[in-house]
Amino acid sequence: MIHENLIEVEKRVDEACKRAGRNRTDVTLIAVSKTKPVEDVREAMVDGIIDFGENKVQEIMDKQEVIHEKLNWHMIGHLQRNKVKYIVDKVCLIHSVDSIRLANQIEEEASKKGVVANILVEVNVAGEDSKFGVKPEETENLVREIAKLEHVKVRGLMTIAPYVDNPEENRVYFKALKQLLVDIKRKNIDNVHMEILSMGMTGDFEVAIEEGATMVRVGTGIFGKRNYNI
Ligand SMILES: *Cc1c(COP(=O)(O)O)cnc(C)c1O
Repeated sequence: MIHENLIEVEKRVDEACKRAGRNRTDVTLIAVSKTKPVEDVREAMVDGIIDFGENKVQEIMDKQEVIHEKLNWHMIGHLQRNKVKYIVDKVCLIHSVDSIRLANQIEEEASKKGVVANILVEVNVAGEDSKFGVKPEETENLVREIAKLEHVKVRGLMTIAPYVDNPEENRVYFKALKQLLVDIKRKNIDNVHMEILSMGMTGDFEVAIEEGATMVRVGTGIFGKRNYNI
Protein backbone atom coordinates (compact mmCIF):
# COMPACT_ATOMS: atom_id res chain seq x y z
CA MET A 1 0.00 0.00 0.00
CA ILE A 2 2.89 2.37 0.74
CA HIS A 3 4.02 2.05 -2.87
CA GLU A 4 0.56 2.97 -4.18
CA ASN A 5 0.25 5.82 -1.67
CA LEU A 6 3.59 7.22 -2.73
CA ILE A 7 2.61 7.19 -6.38
CA GLU A 8 -0.54 9.13 -5.49
CA VAL A 9 1.24 11.64 -3.22
CA GLU A 10 4.01 12.10 -5.77
CA LYS A 11 1.42 12.81 -8.46
CA ARG A 12 -0.26 15.42 -6.25
CA VAL A 13 3.06 17.05 -5.40
CA ASP A 14 3.88 17.16 -9.08
CA GLU A 15 0.55 18.69 -10.04
CA ALA A 16 0.77 21.31 -7.30
CA CYS A 17 4.24 22.27 -8.56
CA LYS A 18 2.87 22.60 -12.09
CA ARG A 19 -0.05 24.75 -10.95
CA ALA A 20 2.38 27.02 -9.13
CA GLY A 21 4.87 27.13 -12.00
CA ARG A 22 7.54 25.56 -9.81
CA ASN A 23 10.09 22.83 -10.47
CA ARG A 24 9.39 19.50 -8.82
CA THR A 25 13.04 19.46 -7.72
CA ASP A 26 12.42 22.57 -5.58
CA VAL A 27 10.17 20.61 -3.23
CA THR A 28 11.44 17.85 -0.93
CA LEU A 29 8.90 15.26 0.10
CA ILE A 30 9.62 14.18 3.68
CA ALA A 31 7.99 10.87 4.56
CA VAL A 32 6.89 11.16 8.18
CA SER A 33 7.45 7.68 9.59
CA LYS A 34 6.74 8.39 13.27
CA THR A 35 5.08 5.44 15.07
CA LYS A 36 5.64 3.27 11.96
CA PRO A 37 7.93 0.23 11.90
CA VAL A 38 11.25 0.08 10.07
CA GLU A 39 9.68 -2.25 7.51
CA ASP A 40 7.56 0.70 6.39
CA VAL A 41 10.63 2.92 6.11
CA ARG A 42 12.29 0.24 4.00
CA GLU A 43 9.25 0.04 1.73
CA ALA A 44 9.40 3.78 1.11
CA MET A 45 13.14 3.52 0.48
CA VAL A 46 12.45 1.08 -2.35
CA ASP A 47 10.48 3.88 -3.99
CA GLY A 48 13.48 6.16 -3.71
CA ILE A 49 12.49 8.12 -0.59
CA ILE A 50 15.56 9.24 1.37
CA ASP A 51 14.02 11.95 3.57
CA PHE A 52 12.23 10.75 6.70
CA GLY A 53 10.61 12.77 9.47
CA GLU A 54 10.33 11.72 13.10
CA ASN A 55 9.08 13.59 16.15
CA LYS A 56 10.75 11.61 18.93
CA VAL A 57 14.47 11.41 19.66
CA GLN A 58 14.22 7.83 20.90
CA GLU A 59 12.46 6.70 17.75
CA ILE A 60 15.10 8.25 15.51
CA MET A 61 17.79 6.43 17.50
CA ASP A 62 15.92 3.12 17.39
CA LYS A 63 15.41 3.31 13.65
CA GLN A 64 18.98 4.36 12.94
CA GLU A 65 20.20 1.38 14.92
CA VAL A 66 18.70 -1.01 12.39
CA ILE A 67 18.73 1.07 9.21
CA HIS A 68 22.29 1.83 8.27
CA GLU A 69 21.74 3.23 4.81
CA LYS A 70 22.52 6.90 4.41
CA LEU A 71 19.20 8.68 4.78
CA ASN A 72 18.20 12.22 5.64
CA TRP A 73 16.52 12.11 9.04
CA HIS A 74 14.50 15.19 9.96
CA MET A 75 13.63 16.03 13.56
CA ILE A 76 10.19 17.60 13.18
CA GLY A 77 8.82 17.30 16.71
CA HIS A 78 9.25 19.34 19.86
CA LEU A 79 12.82 18.85 21.09
CA GLN A 80 13.73 18.76 24.77
CA ARG A 81 17.05 20.29 25.65
CA ASN A 82 18.30 17.22 27.51
CA LYS A 83 17.83 15.11 24.36
CA VAL A 84 19.74 17.37 21.97
CA LYS A 85 23.00 15.49 22.56
CA TYR A 86 21.59 12.25 21.17
CA ILE A 87 20.63 13.57 17.76
CA VAL A 88 22.53 16.76 17.02
CA ASP A 89 24.92 14.93 14.67
CA LYS A 90 22.41 12.30 13.54
CA VAL A 91 19.79 14.38 11.76
CA CYS A 92 20.18 16.57 8.70
CA LEU A 93 17.77 19.24 9.92
CA ILE A 94 16.00 20.18 13.15
CA HIS A 95 12.69 21.79 12.13
CA SER A 96 11.46 22.77 15.56
CA VAL A 97 13.68 25.39 17.20
CA ASP A 98 11.55 27.95 18.97
CA SER A 99 13.71 29.37 21.77
CA ILE A 100 17.19 30.72 22.31
CA ARG A 101 17.62 28.28 25.20
CA LEU A 102 17.14 25.34 22.86
CA ALA A 103 19.40 26.93 20.24
CA ASN A 104 22.11 27.46 22.88
CA GLN A 105 21.91 23.80 23.84
CA ILE A 106 22.23 22.80 20.19
CA GLU A 107 25.25 25.10 19.92
CA GLU A 108 26.88 23.44 22.92
CA GLU A 109 26.35 19.89 21.72
CA ALA A 110 27.21 20.63 18.08
CA SER A 111 30.39 22.33 19.19
CA LYS A 112 31.37 19.29 21.31
CA LYS A 113 30.87 17.03 18.33
CA GLY A 114 32.56 19.39 15.89
CA VAL A 115 29.54 19.74 13.62
CA VAL A 116 27.31 22.56 12.43
CA ALA A 117 23.63 21.89 13.10
CA ASN A 118 21.14 22.99 10.45
CA ILE A 119 17.92 24.25 11.96
CA LEU A 120 14.61 25.86 11.11
CA VAL A 121 12.80 28.27 13.38
CA GLU A 122 9.30 27.01 14.15
CA VAL A 123 6.68 29.74 13.88
CA ASN A 124 3.19 29.52 15.32
CA VAL A 125 1.66 31.48 12.46
CA ALA A 126 -1.93 30.81 13.38
CA GLY A 127 -1.38 31.74 17.03
CA GLU A 128 -2.87 28.51 18.34
CA ASP A 129 -2.47 28.03 22.10
CA SER A 130 -1.80 24.34 21.70
CA LYS A 131 1.15 24.75 19.37
CA PHE A 132 4.85 25.28 19.93
CA GLY A 133 6.63 27.92 17.91
CA VAL A 134 7.47 31.59 18.19
CA LYS A 135 5.10 34.37 17.31
CA PRO A 136 5.62 35.80 13.82
CA GLU A 137 6.62 39.17 15.27
CA GLU A 138 9.28 37.54 17.47
CA THR A 139 10.81 35.47 14.69
CA GLU A 140 13.34 37.94 13.34
CA ASN A 141 14.76 38.61 16.78
CA LEU A 142 15.17 34.92 17.50
CA VAL A 143 16.81 34.40 14.10
CA ARG A 144 19.24 37.24 14.88
CA GLU A 145 20.14 35.69 18.24
CA ILE A 146 20.69 32.24 16.76
CA ALA A 147 22.76 33.73 13.95
CA LYS A 148 25.43 34.59 16.52
CA LEU A 149 26.00 30.91 17.29
CA GLU A 150 28.94 29.37 15.49
CA HIS A 151 27.71 25.79 15.29
CA VAL A 152 24.08 26.48 14.43
CA LYS A 153 22.90 27.56 11.02
CA VAL A 154 19.40 28.91 10.41
CA ARG A 155 18.16 27.51 7.09
CA GLY A 156 14.60 28.75 7.11
CA LEU A 157 11.22 28.53 8.78
CA MET A 158 8.73 25.83 9.67
CA THR A 159 5.11 25.85 10.73
CA ILE A 160 2.44 23.37 11.70
CA ALA A 161 -0.82 24.78 10.38
CA PRO A 162 -4.13 24.19 12.16
CA TYR A 163 -5.99 20.96 11.61
CA VAL A 164 -8.77 21.88 9.18
CA ASP A 165 -11.21 20.06 6.92
CA ASN A 166 -10.72 22.48 4.07
CA PRO A 167 -7.02 23.04 3.28
CA GLU A 168 -7.87 26.39 1.69
CA GLU A 169 -8.34 27.73 5.22
CA ASN A 170 -4.59 27.34 5.77
CA ARG A 171 -3.54 29.22 2.65
CA VAL A 172 -3.42 32.49 4.59
CA TYR A 173 -0.97 30.99 7.10
CA PHE A 174 1.27 29.52 4.42
CA LYS A 175 1.30 32.88 2.63
CA ALA A 176 2.19 34.62 5.89
CA LEU A 177 5.11 32.27 6.60
CA LYS A 178 6.45 32.71 3.08
CA GLN A 179 6.25 36.48 3.47
CA LEU A 180 8.06 36.28 6.80
CA LEU A 181 10.82 34.23 5.16
CA VAL A 182 11.19 36.76 2.36
CA ASP A 183 11.23 39.69 4.81
CA ILE A 184 13.95 38.15 6.97
CA LYS A 185 15.94 37.01 3.94
CA ARG A 186 16.00 40.63 2.71
CA LYS A 187 17.80 41.68 5.89
CA ASN A 188 20.85 39.65 4.79
CA ILE A 189 21.73 38.60 8.31
CA ASP A 190 25.19 37.01 8.59
CA ASN A 191 25.16 33.24 9.06
CA VAL A 192 21.46 33.05 8.11
CA HIS A 193 20.33 31.25 4.96
CA MET A 194 16.62 31.73 4.50
CA GLU A 195 15.98 29.12 1.87
CA ILE A 196 13.86 26.36 3.41
CA LEU A 197 10.14 26.68 4.00
CA SER A 198 8.86 23.56 5.78
CA MET A 199 5.07 23.59 5.69
CA GLY A 200 2.22 21.36 4.59
CA MET A 201 1.12 17.92 5.81
CA THR A 202 -1.20 15.23 4.45
CA GLY A 203 -4.28 17.45 4.60
CA ASP A 204 -2.85 20.58 3.06
CA PHE A 205 0.49 19.98 1.31
CA GLU A 206 -0.79 21.01 -2.10
CA VAL A 207 -1.85 24.42 -0.88
CA ALA A 208 1.49 24.73 0.94
CA ILE A 209 3.38 23.97 -2.28
CA GLU A 210 1.31 26.54 -4.15
CA GLU A 211 2.34 29.06 -1.50
CA GLY A 212 6.05 28.26 -1.68
CA ALA A 213 6.82 25.28 0.56
CA THR A 214 10.22 23.75 -0.20
CA MET A 215 9.65 20.85 2.20
CA VAL A 216 6.36 19.09 2.84
CA ARG A 217 5.96 16.60 5.69
CA VAL A 218 3.57 13.82 4.76
CA GLY A 219 2.81 10.95 7.14
CA THR A 220 -0.71 9.55 6.90
CA GLY A 221 -0.89 10.06 3.15
CA ILE A 222 2.09 7.73 2.69
CA PHE A 223 2.02 5.28 5.60
CA GLY A 224 -1.67 5.27 6.50
CA LYS A 225 -3.28 6.09 9.84
CA ARG A 226 -1.13 6.03 12.95
CA ASN A 227 -1.97 3.91 15.97
CA TYR A 228 -0.76 5.56 19.16
CA ASN A 229 -1.96 2.74 21.42
CA ILE A 230 0.76 0.26 20.63
C1 LIG B 1 2.97 13.98 12.34
C2 LIG B 1 3.52 15.20 11.73
C3 LIG B 1 3.40 15.42 10.34
C4 LIG B 1 2.67 14.49 9.40
O1 LIG B 1 1.30 14.54 9.61
P1 LIG B 1 0.25 13.86 8.60
O2 LIG B 1 -1.00 14.62 8.78
O3 LIG B 1 0.14 12.42 9.03
O4 LIG B 1 0.81 13.98 7.24
C5 LIG B 1 3.97 16.57 9.83
N1 LIG B 1 4.63 17.45 10.61
C6 LIG B 1 4.77 17.26 11.93
C7 LIG B 1 5.51 18.27 12.73
C8 LIG B 1 4.22 16.14 12.54
O5 LIG B 1 4.36 15.97 13.85
